[in-house]
Amino acid sequence: MALARGRQFLAIPGPTNIPLRILKALDRPAMDFTTPEFAAVAEEVQHGLRRIFKTEHDIFIWASTGHGAWEAAVANFYAAGEKVLICETGSFSEWWLEMAKLFELDAEYLPGDWRQGIDPAKLEERLRADKTHEIKGIGVVHNETSTGLTNDLAAIRKAIDAAGHPALLMVDTISSLASMDFRMDEWGCDVVVGGSQKGLMQHAGLGLLGVSAKAVQRTDMSDRPRRYWDIRRSLQAPIHMRNPGTAPAHFFYGLKEAIDFLEEETLDGVFDRHAKLAGAVRAAITEWAKGGQIDFYVKNEARRSNSVTAVEMVGGGSSDKFRFGCRDDFNVMLGGGLLSLADKVFRIGHLGDLNAPMVWGILAAIEATMKRQGIAYGPGGVEAAIAYLAD
Ligand code: PLP
Repeated sequence: MALARGRQFLAIPGPTNIPLRILKALDRPAMDFTTPEFAAVAEEVQHGLRRIFKTEHDIFIWASTGHGAWEAAVANFYAAGEKVLICETGSFSEWWLEMAKLFELDAEYLPGDWRQGIDPAKLEERLRADKTHEIKGIGVVHNETSTGLTNDLAAIRKAIDAAGHPALLMVDTISSLASMDFRMDEWGCDVVVGGSQKGLMQHAGLGLLGVSAKAVQRTDMSDRPRRYWDIRRSLQAPIHMRNPGTAPAHFFYGLKEAIDFLEEETLDGVFDRHAKLAGAVRAAITEWAKGGQIDFYVKNEARRSNSVTAVEMVGGGSSDKFRFGCRDDFNVMLGGGLLSLADKVFRIGHLGDLNAPMVWGILAAIEATMKRQGIAYGPGGVEAAIAYLAD
């Protein structure tokens, strides 16, 4: 309809808005990636990413999506038949588990409640039971993008330490990195998976992998076939030559700009902005939920994510009909439900290059769509979001 004009408001949980200054940084001719000029940029990006991961260790960068970094995480550190424990959180934990199985690891799923998040006590119990330390790796999705839930990594680390377990801690930070607090070294994360298209505000196409010294020691124990993902070869190369094949050089210029942009705001400032915007989204949903037809999918209030919120159609409506209506009527694109949540939840992405009026606009479009589609909602959601940020 006539109102669906102008620039689309992208309210999916990634890819996120790409700021103009990053688009401009990408706008350059092809270059020889063996030059000292590119080497200097690659070095800067490596050190900038380490500041964002909060690590002193290496970050490997591939031209891939986050799936590539997931694959690198399962291909580099384990032999066939070795046990890894993946903690159930939602669709993304399911897919990581599936990938570990495809690589012939003995992948065990630690059952978990998608609405509550990982229970560190249950993890500790499972690890204490593993007296012979059969489990070599533990996989945790920091921010489960399919449900909008952030797991407590500090508590998870504490649980692993309390059990005295030496397994590698593998963490997926794809939808938390550069939008909420993450501390690779302090939280003892050994293998950290990231991507370019969320908090780092790039287009999709980079897989990132932070690797601790403890994880590097396991690379020779892996017997999994790997060429593209093999970090042993990369470790021998100078930083700008670490990519197998041609370096995706443009991306490095985009990343360098993103790192500068984030550091100008300060990482704490970025996290604080995300927390505030998420608070406004939650304030609106809290009011709307009083109408009885939509509600938060995540019931553990303390674990509701600052980068994405999943809203459940508790009244039984179709979340796809809802979000396509929102797109067609108001040009606001919401995320859909994944796997068992398909057509049951819509997801509001509130991460990346985003400010208060953008969030208010997204929330106003959601409220207007509920009105158009006859979904009963408690009044005052948008006002609550305005008050939340204005006060
Ligand atoms: N893990 C999480 C938590 C994600 O949110 C995503 C993508 O949204 C992925 C993994 C997969 O990343 P990609 O889509 O870049 O392959």
